[in-house]
Amino acid sequence: MSDRAEELLALARDAKGFMPDDEGEALYRTALRAGTEGPVAGTFVEIGAWCGKSTIYLGAAAEATGAVLFSVDHHHGSEENQPGWEHHDRSVVDARTGRIDTLPFWRAAVDGAALGDCVVGVVGPSGVVASRWTAPLDLCFIDGGHGAEPAWVDFRGWAPLVAVGGWLAIHDVFPDPADGGRPPYELFCAALESGEFVEDGACGSLRVLRRVVPPAAVPLSGGAG
Ligand code: SAH
Ligand code: MG
Repeated sequence: MSDRAEELLALARDAKGFMPDDEGEALYRTALRAGTEGPVAGTFVEIGAWCGKSTIYLGAAAEATGAVLFSVDHHHGSEENQPGWEHHDRSVVDARTGRIDTLPFWRAAVDGAALGDCVVGVVGPSGVVASRWTAPLDLCFIDGGHGAEPAWVDFRGWAPLVAVGGWLAIHDVFPDPADGGRPPYELFCAALESGEFVEDGACGSLRVLRRVVPPAAVPLSGGAG
C-alpha cells in the first residue's frame, strides 16, 4: 500500500464517526474496485457523511483511482443523533442555533486529508438530491437516516442509479433485530429479492451488493413511505 493510502486510512480511523476500522477498510477496498472495474467514469455517491469518516475511506479510493465522490448529507443529523437519542454528540451542536451541524467537522476532515479535488460535498436532503440526479454510479454507499422513512427514500432514490456492474453498499445491516434497527437490513433484503443485485462481500454490518440486472422500470417495492 502506498504511503498516501496509509496516511489516508490512518486519518479515517482517527476521524469522528460511526464506522469500525475493519468495515471502513472493507468499504475502501470495495471503492477501489469500483474505481478500477466500475462500469462508468468513476462516480461514487455516499448518503450520510456525518463528520467525514466514511468520506475519507471512500475519498482515499476516489483519489487512488481518479474517481469523484459526491458526499450527500443535510448535516443536521439523523433522528437517532438528536438530543435524547442513542447516538447524540453534544460537541456537534451549533451553539447559535441549538441544532446539530456537522458540516464544519466534515469540511475540516476533508481538508485535513487534502481530498478537496476528488470529494464534493452536496448539502441537502438525500431524496431531493436523488430526484434530480441523472449520472449513473459505480458505487453508492447508503448510511443515512436509519428510520424506515429516510432509509426507503434513500434506497428508492439511489439504488436505481447504480449502473449494471456497479456496487451498492449498505451500512448497519443487522440480520438479528437484537443487534440494531430493521430498515437497513430490509433494504438489503429488498435489493437481493429484486433480483437486480447479488451479494458481493460483507464485513461487520457492512453489506456489499453488485448490480447484475438493469433497474426495473417500476421502482423497487417494499418498505414504508
Ligand atoms: N457515514 C458516517 C455516519 C453517517 S450518520 C460515518 O462514517 O461516520 C448518518 C448521517 O445521515 C447523518 O450525518 C445525517 O445528517 C444524515 N442524514 C440522515 N437523513 C438524511 C437525509 N434524509 N438526507 C441527507 N442526510 C441525511
Ligand atoms: Mg452507519
